[in-house]
Amino acid sequence: MSYRFFSMILALSLCGIAAAETNPPEVVAALGLARLHDAESSAKTAQLERARAKGLIAGKSWAPLLEPSPIDVSRYSIRFFLDFDREVVSGSVEIELTAVHSDLTTVEIDAWSGLRILGVTLLEDAAFAFDSPRDLDFSHENDTLSIQLPRTLAEDEGLRLLVTYGGRAGHRGDGINWDYHGNGQRVAWTMAEPFGARVWWPCNDRPDDKAVVNVTVTAPNTYTVASNGLVESTTDHGDGTATTSWASIYPVAPYLVVMNVADYVYSEETYVTSQGTTMPVALYAFPEVADQAEDDLAVTPQMIETMAELFGEYPFIEEKYGNCTANFGGGMEHQTLTTISAAAIGTDWMPWLNVHELGHQWWGDWVTCADWRELWLNEGFATLTEWLWAEHLGESTLQNYLADSDNIGLFLGPVYDNPVPFSGTVYDKGAWVLRMLRHRLGDEDFFEGVAAYRENHAGEAATSEDLKAAFEGVSGRNLDQFFDQWVYGKNRPRFRYSWEATEGPAIRVVFEQIQQNAELFEMPLDIRVTTASGTEDHQIELGALAEQTIEIPLNAPATGIELDPNHWSLFLSALSDQPDLDLGPGYPGPFDAGQSFPGSPASLTIPVTNVGGNSLEISEWGFAYGGSEFSITAPTQLPFSLAPGATVELEIEFKSGGLNTRSNWLWIRSNDPDNLGITYARVEGHGGIFPGDFLQAPSSVSFGNVPVKGLDEATAEFSNLGGAPVTLSATIQGDEFTLLSEVPPVLEPGTRQTFLIRFAPETVGNHQGSLIFETDSGTWPTVEITLRGTGISAPHLLVTPSSLALGLVDNDTKEALVRISNDGTEDLHLLEFVFEGPFERSEGSAGTIAVPADEYRDIAVVSTAGQTGAVQGTLRIRSDDPTLPWATIPLNAVWVDDAILAEDQLAIPATASTAGLGGSWWSSNLVLLNTGNEDAAADLAFSPAGPQTTSGIDRTVTIQARTQRTLSDVVADLGHEGAGGMAVTTSTPKII
Ligand SMILES: [Zn+2]
Repeated sequence: MSYRFFSMILALSLCGIAAAETNPPEVVAALGLARLHDAESSAKTAQLERARAKGLIAGKSWAPLLEPSPIDVSRYSIRFFLDFDREVVSGSVEIELTAVHSDLTTVEIDAWSGLRILGVTLLEDAAFAFDSPRDLDFSHENDTLSIQLPRTLAEDEGLRLLVTYGGRAGHRGDGINWDYHGNGQRVAWTMAEPFGARVWWPCNDRPDDKAVVNVTVTAPNTYTVASNGLVESTTDHGDGTATTSWASIYPVAPYLVVMNVADYVYSEETYVTSQGTTMPVALYAFPEVADQAEDDLAVTPQMIETMAELFGEYPFIEEKYGNCTANFGGGMEHQTLTTISAAAIGTDWMPWLNVHELGHQWWGDWVTCADWRELWLNEGFATLTEWLWAEHLGESTLQNYLADSDNIGLFLGPVYDNPVPFSGTVYDKGAWVLRMLRHRLGDEDFFEGVAAYRENHAGEAATSEDLKAAFEGVSGRNLDQFFDQWVYGKNRPRFRYSWEATEGPAIRVVFEQIQQNAELFEMPLDIRVTTASGTEDHQIELGALAEQTIEIPLNAPATGIELDPNHWSLFLSALSDQPDLDLGPGYPGPFDAGQSFPGSPASLTIPVTNVGGNSLEISEWGFAYGGSEFSITAPTQLPFSLAPGATVELEIEFKSGGLNTRSNWLWIRSNDPDNLGITYARVEGHGGIFPGDFLQAPSSVSFGNVPVKGLDEATAEFSNLGGAPVTLSATIQGDEFTLLSEVPPVLEPGTRQTFLIRFAPETVGNHQGSLIFETDSGTWPTVEITLRGTGISAPHLLVTPSSLALGLVDNDTKEALVRISNDGTEDLHLLEFVFEGPFERSEGSAGTIAVPADEYRDIAVVSTAGQTGAVQGTLRIRSDDPTLPWATIPLNAVWVDDAILAEDQLAIPATASTAGLGGSWWSSNLVLLNTGNEDAAADLAFSPAGPQTTSGIDRTVTIQARTQRTLSDVVADLGHEGAGGMAVTTSTPKII
């Protein structure tokens, strides 16, 4: 995704308030980029907050290290009924999965705890393909839906499950955003990277488990539904609603699934492949920006064509590419349908945002980072796509773009597993790594390597090591050093060099690597030599050596040299007779000043050394974000000079006006030739209010009115305003309240921790509880926050069973009952019954049914199929339950010509072979149908000499009420041979 545009607006709007007037123009330009990085990380931090609160993120790394998934999902079919008035969805998701290992007894699906799960149905067990669907036991805690399987699955065995659920399905920007645009028109748009898919639909929410996805949405018929893949059907129901079905034939990672619903204006262009086939390029735009958006995005087919030439054909060529507007800053590369900022329409950034998100269709969507530590594989490639588009537009555009993308000092940490996941290091340095790889390998091997990487991981997930293997395979080179220094390592080399013209003619160049903040680098380097007769371009190999001398033969005597004239590499350099400013081993930072309190500033010393060979003139300095928190207290005079080898200690004072880590960019202008003479470094400090013990928390948190059996969430901030760390543990009192956040064992001085609390009233009336923290603070050993909320009266619908099996049916009068209970506190009104498939209510009449609190109504359902075989359908019940407008109940029945109820013992002869079984296996399906309303057991016994002579019981099979169990090759499965048959003894006479 990209927040570039959003951050530019932020930069422009805040620069005026901050230090724009005191910053030189070069710094103002860089500030745009620096703010970009900060805006990216803060915007993403908001998205990540939930994951952090849930303790998914531990230690330095922000991404949980994934264990291999025990399941592999191959298909999701998601159905939503949107209710914009109540801002809730009622939905279901069908999940087809296989077991990755043996002994799978429980399936764990990611499902946000705020979702209300109505039921889980086993639709099909692949080993018993003709079995009837049945309800499964499940629990739903800590964002995990644990489903108990009726049997243990072996490796590669598959299931089809249905989860019916409902709720707001949106939480802190993740999942569905129930939003407005224009003059108060509604829009529902989704966002899920990196951990938010589980917020709006139950799924195996990890980037390395992709599945084919169908999204079917029922919404007001004046709205357009946009999603992944292509529209399969649209049905207007004539009641103000319409249902749109989208289907994707390509597997999708859960975080790339999208559903955007609004009064979009649709327009379309066409992309034509080099083979002459066509693909729609779609645009779903808010009416207020539709004309401008159409103009801005008209270039998209040309961008696809350009990238297809470089990366191979657009990966989802059988479907579409599209953009769809929403109210957020930036773009999000949902598969085949990017969600794009409506505010970006009409700005200069639009083409770059457009091409970045398009690039993700290859890199991120078709080949996906295997876990979130590998995010640079998505974002580095997408940023490289911007550069390749700039290159397509012309060399000068590219060179400007590259210069903008390398503000020296701003790349912190490695690109792999960067602690600030959506930072400029991951995006821009990620792209630099790929550009340097291209330089290292040459265009042919680089783009062949890109093709191999794509081919090897088509429609799947990949790691940095996979990328390395693809390039090593194509080029025959060992890239360990390259990946160690640029992907897993930090920083960049600093060269001091000198040259002399020698006989030949030739040029002799002496390189020293003098960086104090990284190991020695090994890299190719372009050198442009000016000679008496023009210029000559050469490339040299620099080894991981502190000093080396390289001699290059020339056609004419050298008069000057230029390193890396086309910006292929990251490094710092100075001729040995030039000045060179170095900030020591701590560069590029962050340099940490420690903690400050009012009246007690913290300070920081950064050594400024002239590691060059000529006088360093320092003329100006400042802090890019302005403000008064950071100031330079010594030296006090500017300008000043530093002789070669001399060091001055730069004293920085930090006076914090608030809590938590504060940061800024120090800039120093000098006559160092690097980076337009400006050196940047990140400085940080930590705020505190009181030097000693001081804790602060709100005395109470109020939730307001929440319907009984509904839920709401609120936050409480706990601050350590003091100067010492405190240990922390928490307990919560009051059954209606739950603490969702993990409690850090220690709260660092001058920091603030946000705790997420849930209120879920079971009864009407005022509820009170407490969140109590125990600490080791002498002054505040106990901190108590009172929690208050009011449960308001509401109906609450339950369905039993959550899926209804009619069993064996031979006429359209045989009923089965589904019980609708109301365990709420108000009358529940069942307003509408909608059937899909060959089913109907036996009473048939429409009209509202009232279900008083603590009562139930049985709804009789019959099947109308007529033809023999298994039939499936759904019943949807609309009600005035405030948190679930529609309840979905799966239905099934098995139609037979003549239903014959069995006697209590049934013998099945071995009729597969007239010659008896002999040495061959008896092969047949044994179908057991339980037509009763209770579960039944069937004992299976082999009869070696025919039905009369029965051996002991071989197996007992439990058959759920009104379901069918089909056992294939049952005798073979039991390990018997020879002539005989099967005897079945049942616990009730209703098995046939
Ligand atoms: Zn991106």
